[in-house]
Amino acid sequence: MGFTIEQECPQCGAPIDLDETDHLILCPYCHVKNYLFARDYFRLLLPHKAPDHDIIYAPYIRMKGEVYLCKGASIRHSIVDVTHQGSGSKQLPVSLGIRPQAMKMRFATPEVPGTFLQCTLSPSDVLTTMNKRTSVFSPGKLFHRAYIGETFSLIYQPLFVHDNRVYDAVINRPLAQLPDSEDVFPPAKDAHPKWNITFMATLCPQCGWNLEGERDSVVLTCGNCDTAWEASEAHFTPVAFGVVSGRGDNINYLPFWKITARDEGLGINTYGDFIRVTKQPAVMQSGLSNTALSFWIPAFKIRPKIFLRLAKQMTILQRDWTMEERIPKKTLYPVTLPHSEAIQSLNVTLASAVMTRSKFFPLLPDVNFTVIQSHLVYLPFRAVGNDMIEEHLNICINKNTLKYGHYL
Ligand SMILES: [Zn+2]
Ligand SMILES: [Zn+2]
Repeated sequence: MGFTIEQECPQCGAPIDLDETDHLILCPYCHVKNYLFARDYFRLLLPHKAPDHDIIYAPYIRMKGEVYLCKGASIRHSIVDVTHQGSGSKQLPVSLGIRPQAMKMRFATPEVPGTFLQCTLSPSDVLTTMNKRTSVFSPGKLFHRAYIGETFSLIYQPLFVHDNRVYDAVINRPLAQLPDSEDVFPPAKDAHPKWNITFMATLCPQCGWNLEGERDSVVLTCGNCDTAWEASEAHFTPVAFGVVSGRGDNINYLPFWKITARDEGLGINTYGDFIRVTKQPAVMQSGLSNTALSFWIPAFKIRPKIFLRLAKQMTILQRDWTMEERIPKKTLYPVTLPHSEAIQSLNVTLASAVMTRSKFFPLLPDVNFTVIQSHLVYLPFRAVGNDMIEEHLNICINKNTLKYGHYL
């Protein structure tokens, strides 16, 4: 479950409630749009109720994402959503539990008074802990593990010290007794944090027109000069894209990352290699046999099981479509999975397409794809009842599953 962040509009100061996954914020009062960007990750504060005390903030790393394991002869997946205490203090609780979901948080900025304990744990330490936990999912040898779409944030728990006791400043209750001789807190403190979030004006860098997107979009589009953009290092950089035009009514365009990649380990370099290695039974598009292998990965967050099915079906059934570099005027489904995350899924997509898993999985550690190039491709899906159906391949996605993906 996600959480809510309270933030003032940088233009008019009106309060806006953001969802955790929001990037694009539209102020309901002055209608100015901004894109939220943090260089590493967002830092959030739990609210405290102790205005008369000097507040000490203890960091918790929060990780949310999907983990995929190729183990034995099966692929397991699950949604990971954890917080882990990051200051190394033995007295503080290891996790925040459901607290971040239960109250509104704010961004931590240099103006916030208080002492910030240093976070000595890194995101990779949290991953190591998660690796140990997720390894017990199922029996069998682990051949490959991938985290896809994971995000990290830092959540600060407010504390204060009174009468030799450490108090939880969210509920003003004692947490721990301060030992006589030593400080309960490690000495390293971030006295003057320089963290800031950047509010980027959502104007097209090429023509100055307003960029379009939805709240959780990680790619914005310009319908005026037909370009697509993603934020990196606090500015927008162009994204190569193509559109496969749809016919008829009720067309929605869903984005996929078309990722061309080579693997020297097992020599999986062409579409024909992919079909041969995965032992696809059907007669495949022979016209593509000698073309470089491209994976087609959903560019939107969706439940792991469906994500894997779509990546597999699209990669196997792909065609050499004619594409246009023009942003469609019809509904564009937002890109919510960045390219950097999509490329984490190549091995697991290959694994899911393989027909003889027990034979092939031991070879997975030798597979190491090098990405040659990537494109964002919008494909036409027709809305039929509760489903969205791809026009050429009849691949089907349930509308509710898509909706639920916004919360992942
Ligand atoms: Zn405003
Ligand atoms: Zn433009």
